[in-house]
Amino acid sequence: MTDLSVSPAARFTSTAQSGAADYPGLDNWRSLPISQQPSWSDPDVFRAAIAELSILPPLVFAGEVDVLRERLAAAARGEAFLLQGGDCAETFGAATADRISARVKTILQMAVVLTYGAQLPVIKMGRMAGQFAKPRSSDTETRDGVTLPAYRGDIVNGYDFTPESRAHDAARMLRAYHTSASTLNLIRAFTQGGFADLRLVHTWNKGFTENPAHARYESLAREIDRAIKFMDSCGADFEALKRVEFFASHEALLLDYERALTRIDSRTGLPYDTSAHFLWIGERTRELDHAHVDYLSRVRNPIGVKLGPSTTGDDALRLIDRLDPEREPGRLTFITRMGAQNIREKLPPVVEKVTASGAQVLWVTDPMHGNTVTSRNGYKTRRFDDVVDEVRGFFEVHRALGTVPGGLHMEMTGDDVAECLGGSDPIDEAAFEDRYESVCDPRLNHMQSLEMAFLVAGSLSK
Ligand code: PEP
Ligand code: MN
Repeated sequence: MTDLSVSPAARFTSTAQSGAADYPGLDNWRSLPISQQPSWSDPDVFRAAIAELSILPPLVFAGEVDVLRERLAAAARGEAFLLQGGDCAETFGAATADRISARVKTILQMAVVLTYGAQLPVIKMGRMAGQFAKPRSSDTETRDGVTLPAYRGDIVNGYDFTPESRAHDAARMLRAYHTSASTLNLIRAFTQGGFADLRLVHTWNKGFTENPAHARYESLAREIDRAIKFMDSCGADFEALKRVEFFASHEALLLDYERALTRIDSRTGLPYDTSAHFLWIGERTRELDHAHVDYLSRVRNPIGVKLGPSTTGDDALRLIDRLDPEREPGRLTFITRMGAQNIREKLPPVVEKVTASGAQVLWVTDPMHGNTVTSRNGYKTRRFDDVVDEVRGFFEVHRALGTVPGGLHMEMTGDDVAECLGGSDPIDEAAFEDRYESVCDPRLNHMQSLEMAFLVAGSLSK
């Protein structure tokens, strides 16, 4: 998937592992306060699942993780841009070839729009192949007078509102591992097997509904085609266009799962969480002296932290000290999700403090999570205009401070769902009744995602 100079077989042997890592400090989190963890119904099933996960092969490889760290360092310097997108919560049932390929195609399309518009390399990363665990604001959910455990993502329990489905079943961790493996397998095939070849830029648009963003993409694809034909006649070598790097990421919420998939890299002797290339800490689990920050401070992967509107400059500095004490380029990403109402006021003091400290983090905007509202007909939604406004605010703040707006983190899908309001072919509340599919937060659909990419490309090229 990455590190193309090394054959997949060589990458595997250089990082092949057996057994969960044993490394000083890796279990320190167990004695710290921890929130948002399941209460597994059967301890024997839990022990068996962890034992099995601990000896299964890594899902990603240490060499790939190191490549990503370099790419993110470039983005932090303003020499690349991170595009990170996917479902709020992946489900086992939706891990089908059609759904996965629609999402990958949409991310590739967005990346083309951004690369062409901004003339910058785009780092492509899915909230995919492992985004199965969800933090919840309440432990329970009540419907029609019946109270059951809240849905915590397919890795913990089922979405169906029955006591059996909502029980916390540790065997689901194994299914999450295998679903991640088959998702990654398909992504690797798409991105390494010629499907992502830039010369096929038109075909990625096929099968999606015709709409204004679709048409705009077609005309951009024609321009790219002309440029490629021109370069071709000049004798350019297009071998490199056949493959693209694509990285996997998820929220590192379920620490038993992350711990069981951590391996010591035989090249460096250091622990890598091999469940994904990039892991982030959510807004609800970023307390400094708690388990999540401790655990992620001990693995070599690049780490993200979500920062909500209550974040102070000092909070950010303390997170840097804990997660990136060496100030290593590419190690730490701050994903801000302040809300459109707040970003212009709340983000500048945080960025200023970090800049004054000399630390160089990658700043990414998540314009989704600070802008969630409930529609009149009872759906969790977001207005496309609010999402756009937060993105604009993010660019304005960084431009004013002379810092780098380095990436976009989105909840999106390649499917024609109706979950977020608005867009140039507007989605209204009535459409939710038929086309709202998310089991958690609302996602931009294919058209809204492309529109967002055109908009960000415009901001980046200014
Ligand atoms: C998420 O990314 O789905 C999420 C729960 O985000 P946050 O931690 O920012 O609320
Ligand atoms: Mn979400």
